Amino acid sequence: MKIAIAGAGAMGCRFGYMLAKTGNEILLIDEWPAHIEAIQKNGLTAVDGDVRDTIQIPIVRPEEARGQVDLVIAFTKSMKLGEMLGKIKGIIHEDTKVLCLLNGLGHEETMRKYVPEKNIIMGVTIWTAGIIEPGVVRVGGVGSVEIQAIDPSGEKVAHEVVEVMNEAGLCAVYSQNVLFSIWRKACVNGAMNSTCALLDTNLAEFFASNYAEDIVREIVTEFSQVAAKEGITLDIDQTTDYVITASKKVGSHYPSMHQDLVQNHRLTEVDFLNGMVNKKGEKYGINTPYCRLITQMVHTKEQALGIKQ
Ligand code: NAD
Repeated sequence: MKIAIAGAGAMGCRFGYMLAKTGNEILLIDEWPAHIEAIQKNGLTAVDGDVRDTIQIPIVRPEEARGQVDLVIAFTKSMKLGEMLGKIKGIIHEDTKVLCLLNGLGHEETMRKYVPEKNIIMGVTIWTAGIIEPGVVRVGGVGSVEIQAIDPSGEKVAHEVVEVMNEAGLCAVYSQNVLFSIWRKACVNGAMNSTCALLDTNLAEFFASNYAEDIVREIVTEFSQVAAKEGITLDIDQTTDYVITASKKVGSHYPSMHQDLVQNHRLTEVDFLNGMVNKKGEKYGINTPYCRLITQMVHTKEQALGIKQ
């Protein structure tokens, strides 16, 4: 399959690498000059424990992307999705499917502005990855992917995408309710990422506090009330347990928003997690004080650190 990866950071490189290894024709698209230069000069290096593997793989800036691809996999950060899709509209043809695998909420609305409904595939993944240095990505661990076409007419091709991903070892399934899975993962990110970033703790340190489980429940309750207005049922007890169990399992890990805000001084995805719940809550007349305060505090920290992008 001819596949463009729109946003070739940690996750885009991981997926691009795995899909290239099984013979797909991959084009990486990204905007980070040092990363582009490193991959063009030395290839993309994937590091799994002690094993390093370098493959030659084309990478271009969005404005340079040409031709026609069967599938675009979007892997930008949330705030860059619309801008990226706008810049690569030249490679999104009538039959090009676009799969969104970003964390966060509200991306299907952004996708609809750039991609016909029949070509939109939404998804969620629990694979992880990290950039070690420009051109070098950490790809250890295991994960899975769930995807679903937004329009029933896209189902057949989405099943083909599942097959291609499974050939690459990405453990993909066709979902019957991907929006539920997207919201449930957003609960994990909305409860853990922003709190650990604000408190400067890892997950184990957060859960060592007497307050942690209450905070998680309050945040999940707000997500659940807003999700219900969008036709998605998130049982508060079950989802709270899910978030706590999933988070306790990974122990001393610092969630990605901690890495972005505290460690690397980069803008966060909070507007697409707690911020989106607050925004949608205002629209539906639901008060979401935890999500509002968390969003304001994360933005305050971004501004205090002088982070622009
Ligand atoms: P990323 O930060 O690695 O990459 C996003 C963009 O930032 C890319 O364009 C990349 O080139 C650029 N970038 C990365 N490091 C940079 C640096 N030091 N300086 C300048 N530019 C830099 O993002 P990601 O982790 O691949 O996440 C993409 C999406 O996938 C997000 O929505 C994220 O929440 C989601 N996601 C991430 C993980 C994970 O483990 N990383 C897991 C699941 C979902």
